[in-house]
Amino acid sequence: MTPAQQQSITGLILAGGRSSRMAHAGQARDKALIQFKGRRLVDHVFDKLAPQVGGVMINANQNHEQFKSFNVRVLSDAIGDFAGPLAGLHAGLFASKRPFLITVPCDSPFFPDDLVSRMFDALESTGSAVAIAMSGDQPHPVFALVRRSVLDHLSDFLKQGGRKIDAWYDSLTTVQVDFNDDALFGNINTPQELAAFENGLPLPPKVAKPRFRREAESVAPGEKVQQHTDAALAPTRDFLQHILAAPAPPAASLEAITSCLDGYDPNALPVAMVNQVIRQFVQPLAGFEQVALRDALGRVSAENIISPINVPAHDNSAMDGWAVRGSDLGTSDEAVLNEIGSSLAGREFSGKVSRGECVRITTGAVMPHGCDTVIPLEMVKAEGVRIVIPPRQEAGANRRLAGEDLARGQVALAAGAVIKPSELGLIASLGMPEVRVRRRLRVAFFSTGNELKSVGQTLAEGEVYDSNRYTLYGMLQRLGVDVVDMGVIRDDPAALEEAFRLAAANADAVITSGGVSVGEADHTKQVMRKLGDVVFWRIAMRPGRPMAFGRITDGPRQAALFGLPGNPVAVMVTFYHFVRGALLHMMGATNTDLPLLRVKSQEAMRKKSGRTEYQRGFLETRGGSLTVRITGAQGSGILRSMSQANCFIVLGHDQGSVEAGDAVDVMLFEGLV
Ligand code: AMP
Ligand code: MG
Repeated sequence: MTPAQQQSITGLILAGGRSSRMAHAGQARDKALIQFKGRRLVDHVFDKLAPQVGGVMINANQNHEQFKSFNVRVLSDAIGDFAGPLAGLHAGLFASKRPFLITVPCDSPFFPDDLVSRMFDALESTGSAVAIAMSGDQPHPVFALVRRSVLDHLSDFLKQGGRKIDAWYDSLTTVQVDFNDDALFGNINTPQELAAFENGLPLPPKVAKPRFRREAESVAPGEKVQQHTDAALAPTRDFLQHILAAPAPPAASLEAITSCLDGYDPNALPVAMVNQVIRQFVQPLAGFEQVALRDALGRVSAENIISPINVPAHDNSAMDGWAVRGSDLGTSDEAVLNEIGSSLAGREFSGKVSRGECVRITTGAVMPHGCDTVIPLEMVKAEGVRIVIPPRQEAGANRRLAGEDLARGQVALAAGAVIKPSELGLIASLGMPEVRVRRRLRVAFFSTGNELKSVGQTLAEGEVYDSNRYTLYGMLQRLGVDVVDMGVIRDDPAALEEAFRLAAANADAVITSGGVSVGEADHTKQVMRKLGDVVFWRIAMRPGRPMAFGRITDGPRQAALFGLPGNPVAVMVTFYHFVRGALLHMMGATNTDLPLLRVKSQEAMRKKSGRTEYQRGFLETRGGSLTVRITGAQGSGILRSMSQANCFIVLGHDQGSVEAGDAVDVMLFEGLV
């Protein structure tokens, strides 16, 4: 870390807690101000921190007068009520003008002298949003270096009611910096710990926590989930306005990523490594919006949706029949009960059911008080109100329990889920009319090549119609992104540069086809190289060997770049196997992998080991079992092979030729939802 870099960092002392565990004889004592080895705790922390940073601030929610001695800014939380370290961080980021901010708690006076420089180096070399100090497996989440650019993201998290620091880190790119020594992060929470440290006594070892918990796991079923009212958030609202325009956190360079990969060879890159590089390079975008429930179809949920109610709300009947008391049922004799009323769906029985009584009930109706079992209609002999039930009925049967679908306080839908029809229904079952979703991804695409004509034009000798823009349009629409079709761009450096700059300025990602093969005479590759951080790969696959990947920039704006090959089948194969997952990752989706089925091949296929092949296949049932066959000629320009197929046959990197009857992996084109 250079002196200039040190100047770019604000040190924030977190002294905003209540110090409740430090209370002595019923009196609260501000931890920061407690005497330790002849000085206040905060004095020790200040002296350690100040020489490592460009300037210090203190976050405190009480006793401001007492911090005046430092002559630095003392900040209260903006969101009130001792909301924890994130609220302090938020206040610090808002007030600080420097591009980086490191937090240290006021009760940890032993942290290392190279804390800031090591955290800074890790943050910069990985391009992460946050660096977190560790000692072995033990994270110290309140020792964190963050970029100021995470302010919007944090504001948004707090606005949504998030308070847990671990959950917030989970939503960012983080790097852990191991200082290898628990003692450096010892902190003083209780009078006993204070005495132990004063006297140099060993502290009981801390139980190592696993990596960060998700916020939702800390909510016990039935526990009230804290809702934050508008009034509580009023002070933050002014600077929450520009969240939608928030840029993605900066990514690491391709060089930084690829130099860490064993056996990385851009001229013979295995498919798995392609995805590894892409996944590390592209980042989920910041930016959220609140949409009406129906409009959330196909979008990505931006937060954990916590059930505010039990679903179902009451114990209810799973059958039409009679609600009874399990203890009234006979084991060897039939039970004869007296029907005293009925409970219908939407109109419950309000009385109490005593011994020997039962209630007529319909499916979904609330279980009457005292009843725990439903005997289905067809089991029962009813003679007026005299209800005869055969022996050996199971007590508790045919009853749905309150909260068995979703218990109050439970995560109904995790952040990062793509909202499908079942999720729409699930959210509706919680009574929520709106959903918070990630903002839509904007993807620009164009074709390159002087031989290309657009549909509706007349072809001259040697020209072909541009079909790639149509397959790309279809694939992108299905993914639910906003598309920007930029047409065919001539093989002319000025035209290409303008197109790329426009795409970088207006889209989150740009996809091109053509012009990336080895030996291409055109200018596409040169312009890509000029405008960004781009690699040109020869991938060990068929079809789709050449591909460009990286990011292109235009001033402060940037877009991920996918330079796909020109051949129409290669475009689709590379899109589905590389671009789709990357775009979903940028959209904030988790769980984007598609399943492979293993089925019998009807025919032999020649295959070289050392590359992945994507044959176009047709999956069908033959002789009672699933089998797959190839859809005719497999040339990378023959789009008919895709059109006639219903699956890819994926022949893995190490696999050799296939005999008829061998099992192969297939990936289905169509899903049910
Ligand atoms: P290239 O990667 O530019 O060498 O293109 C490889 C092959 O794909 C050539 O035969 C091109 O004519 C063809 N091709 C390139 N772009 C398109 C397109 N947009 N639509 C149809 N064919 C294309
Ligand atoms: Mg070309």
